[in-house]
Amino acid sequence: MSFALTILGSSGALPAFGRFPSSQYLTIQNQHFLIDCGEGAQMQLMKYKIPVHKINRIFISHLHGDHYLGLMGLLFSMHLQKRVNDLYLHAPKGLDEIILLQLKYSKSTLSYTIRFHLFDPEQPTTLFENEAVSVETIPLLHKLPCAGFLFREKQKPFKLDKEKLLPSMKLQHLALLKTGADVYDESGKLLYQNSDFTLPPAPSYSYAYCSDTAWNEKMIDQLKKY
Ligand SMILES: [Zn+2]
Repeated sequence: MSFALTILGSSGALPAFGRFPSSQYLTIQNQHFLIDCGEGAQMQLMKYKIPVHKINRIFISHLHGDHYLGLMGLLFSMHLQKRVNDLYLHAPKGLDEIILLQLKYSKSTLSYTIRFHLFDPEQPTTLFENEAVSVETIPLLHKLPCAGFLFREKQKPFKLDKEKLLPSMKLQHLALLKTGADVYDESGKLLYQNSDFTLPPAPSYSYAYCSDTAWNEKMIDQLKKY
């Protein structure tokens, strides 16, 4: 599945039997994201057989404990499992101090590097973008600075209609058709009309994670674009 969400926990701050505080695991086209990391998230990651070593980005919405108190244990487990890849940690300012203090007093040096990307939850900001996906913050209204996250797949390539392709087509022509463009020769003459040789791209999906918030009308404009 190229776009899949696993809810690891959705409970509030106080313990509830059989439920876990906020944490979600999202995969988009073989990219692996963890969103919030409440207590017990590691147990849930194991339960669902999630490949933790593939998680390269963690997004923390705010600094209430039910959204990040599972993080330190997870970071230490990654160290014990000899992780080497950098881990990108997107969070409001302050989480860096919390983590570095615990590392300091446990005299720990992790086997991998944490790259902190601290953001201001009050401003919509693009946190991450590559050829397949973008992630931006959604400002929320809460007792602490708090942001949700909007994950958005970019448009996927057009599919080549193999039955209609011609032997005369070169690789660069096929590459152009996949982008949705028509193909012209050097003199500007139309060689291949895109719609004659392609099928529409697979649909692109988006997912908005809005954790703790009061009603916030401003959110509507940001979300309805998608
Ligand atoms: Zn909260």
